[in-house]
Amino acid sequence: MSNETVVIALGGNAFIQKGQRGTVEEQWINVSRAMRQIADIIEKGYKVLLTHGNGPQVGNILEWMEALKHKIPPLPMDMAGAMTQGWIGYMIQQSLTNELRRRGIHRRIVSIVNQVLVDGEDEAFKNPTKFVGPYYTEEEAKKLMREKGWIMKPDPRGGWRRVVPSPKPIDNIEKEAIKMLLNSDFIVIASGGGGIPVVDSGGQINGVEAVIDKDLAGELLASLVDADHFIILTDVEGAMINYGKKNMRILRKVTVDEIEKYYREGHFPPGSMGPKVLAAIKFIRNGGKKAAIGHLYKALDLLEERTGTIITR
Ligand code: ADP
Ligand code: MG
Repeated sequence: MSNETVVIALGGNAFIQKGQRGTVEEQWINVSRAMRQIADIIEKGYKVLLTHGNGPQVGNILEWMEALKHKIPPLPMDMAGAMTQGWIGYMIQQSLTNELRRRGIHRRIVSIVNQVLVDGEDEAFKNPTKFVGPYYTEEEAKKLMREKGWIMKPDPRGGWRRVVPSPKPIDNIEKEAIKMLLNSDFIVIASGGGGIPVVDSGGQINGVEAVIDKDLAGELLASLVDADHFIILTDVEGAMINYGKKNMRILRKVTVDEIEKYYREGHFPPGSMGPKVLAAIKFIRNGGKKAAIGHLYKALDLLEERTGTIITR
């Protein structure tokens, strides 16, 4: 039995898989399959702190608000983020409770509505890059830019979309609660969707219209709780060099210096594998023992280094 602490970041495929519409049945099937993997890790005795993405869910909420804007006043993005922490946290809590009960294990599981501090002066606020919400025509987009002050850009996938900043996470507001719960043997779900972004203005914190990368926020969380391991679960076997090319190759066991060299050479694009590799590098540089990137359905094998990309000092 291990009593080491592991922070596990769940990617989008734990909730809605590529090609699915995201019906509620699909969501429960996906989550329960993911939670069987997490239960395997819990059964081994690890202290588990979970985090998760929320891209498609926030996208849905923004679409609902757009479609109903004449009936119900739309809410800002920080509130949409808070909603997804409840939605996804609830699914994880229920599904993981049931999977553990099936195994005769009774544990306390709790999700935190979690704010993450960003710097209002972060460069990202000057250059928003993250596409969110519905697609609009150019005419509609220009109207929204005038009326709401949104920044809209043509999405390479077609149509115009709102872009928001993706600032760096600098602190986790509820970190003390998270640590206390972990130390009291709770399984904790925190920093969902990268956390609800807040800025500090003269001692007061306020939500901002931005999106924090969930892998980078997960790293901050892992470092703040002094986790031994930081595991990033996604829909590929690991971090590859020459991705999509003939000479593509998975990195199996690498040092932080080696993978940093590949990162600088541009093998891991922003918005997908880039932030995962960067988060792994940061975790090791901050004193973590091991970071790992691999497939959701091989979570325990990944944690025990039998598969995926393993990054150590
Ligand atoms: P998640 O929801 O798990 O964060 P992302 O889509 O953000 O998933 O990132 C995983 C994706 O990164 C993979 O599906 C893969 O297509 C893409 N990817 C881009 N570059 C690489 C690379 N060098 N190695 C592995 N996967 C890569
Ligand atoms: Mg991602």
